[in-house]
Amino acid sequence: MVQGQAMNDVTAPSVAGAAATTTEAGRSANAIETHGLARRFGTTEAVAGLDLTVPRGSVFGFIGPNGAGKTTTIKMLLGLLRPTAGRAGVLGYDLATGSLAARARIGYVAENADLYGYMRVREIIAFTRGLYPRWDDQLVARYLELFGLPKDRAVKALSKGMKAQLALILALGPVPELLILDEPTSGMDPLARKQFLSTILREVAAAGQTVFMSTHILSDVERVADHVALLNRGRLVLADSMDHLKENVKKVRVVLAGGAPDDLGRWPGVRAVAREGRGWLISVESRLDEVRGRLQALDPSYLEVVDMTLEEIFVDYAGGERLVLG
Ligand code: ATP
Repeated sequence: MVQGQAMNDVTAPSVAGAAATTTEAGRSANAIETHGLARRFGTTEAVAGLDLTVPRGSVFGFIGPNGAGKTTTIKMLLGLLRPTAGRAGVLGYDLATGSLAARARIGYVAENADLYGYMRVREIIAFTRGLYPRWDDQLVARYLELFGLPKDRAVKALSKGMKAQLALILALGPVPELLILDEPTSGMDPLARKQFLSTILREVAAAGQTVFMSTHILSDVERVADHVALLNRGRLVLADSMDHLKENVKKVRVVLAGGAPDDLGRWPGVRAVAREGRGWLISVESRLDEVRGRLQALDPSYLEVVDMTLEEIFVDYAGGERLVLG
């Protein structure tokens, strides 16, 4: 179903037709801010007190294993699901009072986007175009060509990946300020995934739009995101810019003849210390240069800074808990 009509239909790409009611709200520095946002289903704490900040203009990877609470968070941000606690602001609008106004500026592509199957591609485009006051025909034509989508084919005859591409085009048509993508590349082959993501990076982010993308495919996030957050069992395990993560989140392997200082685990920037053979393996989360400098002053017989992949970082932050991230 194509959205814009049904607020409780969570399976469609959309920009809701409501108009913004305040001008002040649109000027917030962050596209998304949540404070203690929570949602419970019976005894399941799907989202458990989430504090999240998504800067405007960022490509934000929202990562987590199956059941982590990603879709639940997204539904709350869209005003489709009521939080049981906490609050959230989207594009400067308070979710509790202004979710319709925010929705007018959001493009949304749901997981397994469910489109009107009986329409042809060009028909669903014309239909969706009619729902919105603003629509970029040139952009839509360019994407259709880029993805090679056949305009005369019935939507139900498109492959899963092609449907995802079409859903993205329909969400981008109204030129949203914020694009929310829930597992956008699931079902796509590697080539289609690469093309889809490079499009997002090149076109959408370059135009200053914010992209908030949930996924459990780490390589996708590594490819396009400039910010990342890891959710596990409804809780935020880590949130940072990619640059800061890559530069600061490291392990330092050190052997100190005189033994490790008692307070090593409490040094600023040190997250954990583990014994490893004759030395120590120190998990550093910030202030890498400072930590290294302090260790060097202790005259170590061996010191090595070890880079971590995104996957290693996430597994480490999840406390050794198994993350199935694909
Ligand atoms: P996936 O990657 O598998 O899509 P996710 O991170 O999007 O997972 P959610 O769909 O948000 O996770 O689910 C979080 C938790 O909330 C899960 O335990 C799920 O079973 C539960 N949950 C989600 N929606 C409902 C619902 N309508 N009723 C009951 N429980 C629900």
